[in-house]
Amino acid sequence: MPPPDAIANGTDATPADPGDAPPGPVPDEVLDDLVTVLDEIRLGRSSSRSELVERTGLGRAIVARRVADLIDRGLVTEGDVGPSTGGRPPRQLAFRATAGHVLVADLGATSIDVAITTLDGRILGHIDEPARIEDGPEACLARVDELFASMRATIKDMPGGLWGIGIGVPGPVEFGSGRPISPPIMPGWDGYPIRARFVARYDAPVWVDNDVNVMALGEWRAGVAVGHDNVVVVKIGTGVGAGIISDGRLHRGAQGSAGDVGHIQVSDDPLIICRCGNIGCLEAYAGGGALGRAGEAAARDGRSPRLALALDKHGLVSAEDVGRAASFGDPVAVAMLQAAGRRVGSMLASVVNFFNPSLIVIGGGVARSPDLFIAAIREAIYRRSLPLATRDLRIAVSSLGGLAGVIGASSMVVDQLFLRESIALWIDAGDPAGSPDVVLARAG
Ligand SMILES: [Zn+2]
Repeated sequence: MPPPDAIANGTDATPADPGDAPPGPVPDEVLDDLVTVLDEIRLGRSSSRSELVERTGLGRAIVARRVADLIDRGLVTEGDVGPSTGGRPPRQLAFRATAGHVLVADLGATSIDVAITTLDGRILGHIDEPARIEDGPEACLARVDELFASMRATIKDMPGGLWGIGIGVPGPVEFGSGRPISPPIMPGWDGYPIRARFVARYDAPVWVDNDVNVMALGEWRAGVAVGHDNVVVVKIGTGVGAGIISDGRLHRGAQGSAGDVGHIQVSDDPLIICRCGNIGCLEAYAGGGALGRAGEAAARDGRSPRLALALDKHGLVSAEDVGRAASFGDPVAVAMLQAAGRRVGSMLASVVNFFNPSLIVIGGGVARSPDLFIAAIREAIYRRSLPLATRDLRIAVSSLGGLAGVIGASSMVVDQLFLRESIALWIDAGDPAGSPDVVLARAG
């Protein structure tokens, strides 16, 4: 079905070549230019034909034809007249983000977040609730289905068809197959075919990645990391992990396990056993689980009356309790957070020396702790990194908070759909709704 705004605007964009027909099959040699022009517009780098000519190096006539083609296909709209630079004011081009919608779920160790977004990550509906990833894939994903259904039922005028589904999970994922591989905190999920399960139910393309990569994409597209090409996003929640943006791309590594910094060994104390089975992992010192356990010990042996109150009230001590006690000045909780922050900072100093990012983003539940935690991280990074690597380094706290995951999962889907290899598989059909096989491109 041709989108109404494409019809309304299409006539203005009559290209120079009178031979151009309405949308049909895209020849291979045209596809490269089409993707180049579309990416420029979609990612907000160019918003007029003259900018496109300037930035892509394509000829004026080619740009005009590709823009007209994209308008005919309902992927680009032509809107108001933009600012004049002396001559005839240019018409503003924009990605048609309402051509379709995306369903996303960000599963954490203790929560589920689901959302419906437009193709530019705008959230149309969002639900979050507590959940336990250890209940296993059948129970957790059945709940995701229910939440998807109730969200869809509340949205009137859903934009376009379902173009794709994005899922984040709190463990290592083989990106090519969409399966978790030996995830330490996800019993029952090892090798579970998450992608195949959603494809069978929704008949749409599906991508699965770990929660930290998804969060990094969210911060990069819509949060504090916008405009940075080399970024490390650290999530300190129940576990600890990092997502890496390298030279303007998410770096997943050969198998998709890049950034698993929580299991870097930071001590050889045989008493500190990580849930992965090794000793002395960072996560066993600085993850939310470790902080909660240390807080509970301090509550039980009388070192911290404030944490003892939390223990009485909840029956356990969480990392949030430790953060709250620290913000009231509890010296034991303060010392715990500072020690955890120094451990994280020392690890990040090594990452900074190795990778030279321009920005480090700290997110996750523990990052919502008092400033002294972030201060301890920052101090350790600057003290232990090489001066050249830290000269222009910024360290920031996540600006999207709990929404980074769903925004990033949406971004993952759309980025994958618009890869040249993927778009080649659906452009002739008009849109990727009902074409789950476009994920076979598997690039990126
Ligand atoms: Zn470990």
